[in-house]
Amino acid sequence: MRDLFTLPKVHLHVHLESTVRWDTLRDIGAANGVRVPDDIGTFGDFAAFFAQNDLVRACLRRPDDFRRVAYEFCQDEARQGTRYAEASFTAAAHGERLGDLDMPLTAVREGLAAGREAFGTEVRLLLDHSRRRSLDRAWRTLDLAKRHDDVVAVGLAGDESFPAGPFAAVFAAAREAGLHIVHHAGEGEGAVSIRQALDDRTERLGHGIRVLDDPDLVAEVRDRKIPLEVCPSSNVALGFAPSLAEHPLPRLRDAGLLVTVNTDIPALIGTPLAIEYTRVRDTFGYDDTVLAGLARNAVDASFAPASTKARLHEEINTWLTP
Ligand SMILES: [Zn+2]
Repeated sequence: MRDLFTLPKVHLHVHLESTVRWDTLRDIGAANGVRVPDDIGTFGDFAAFFAQNDLVRACLRRPDDFRRVAYEFCQDEARQGTRYAEASFTAAAHGERLGDLDMPLTAVREGLAAGREAFGTEVRLLLDHSRRRSLDRAWRTLDLAKRHDDVVAVGLAGDESFPAGPFAAVFAAAREAGLHIVHHAGEGEGAVSIRQALDDRTERLGHGIRVLDDPDLVAEVRDRKIPLEVCPSSNVALGFAPSLAEHPLPRLRDAGLLVTVNTDIPALIGTPLAIEYTRVRDTFGYDDTVLAGLARNAVDASFAPASTKARLHEEINTWLTP
């Protein structure tokens, strides 16, 4: 069994706001007059997750806060063997809240550039928009995505019981602008949310685990080779899977779907990417070839330049070579 920290990995589903180290949050909170508990505590459902998100949002205020979080993300991912990541960031929500639409995104990009320089982690951004929020904010999200170089995609996140339909024109305009589309779907809701995401021509499914509810949809997602960003520990922590052992990941693979392994909210659940791979190995008994295959799926599913993808495949080959 090879070391999964050294397996070259691509991380496709991770929310920057949910990667903040607790010590950093305490520092930033103290500087901004926000009380942060001594430790993260425990949480077991979506409501508690939203409360944690609110706390992070309340803390992040100054450009330095965003720069630090982005820089430390690069460092933490490098320690996990992540070579390339596409991180989600709710840029417009922070910008509106702080009265400066561009500041949070600009500062994050500066932090990522410094982090890449220091740690070699290549990170691009996906700007997400909560389905619960306004159409105006969705348009502002698109505007930001078009004006900032390191943004490769936009997509919907948040409570999937809210429909995607009202935002269809935003994503049509995003496609026209050359941006990729990645929606959260099939996490809390079933086939309907995945169907809506496909209507918007999502290029991956954020989660997508409930595709298994509908055999016809499984066939379509498989035939169209739409990758799934599967986040097993997050699904268990948020109550979307009863346990890791009962997680549908093996059934998704057996159905011929393109499965990738991700963390979603690593700091909140204490499961960074190499640990997530380790938990998948321990739970499902996969050998190194299967685990390398999961890493390869993420390379192929990414929006990385062809040269980066070729280099990552080479590095994975080297990892597998005895
Ligand atoms: Zn997510």
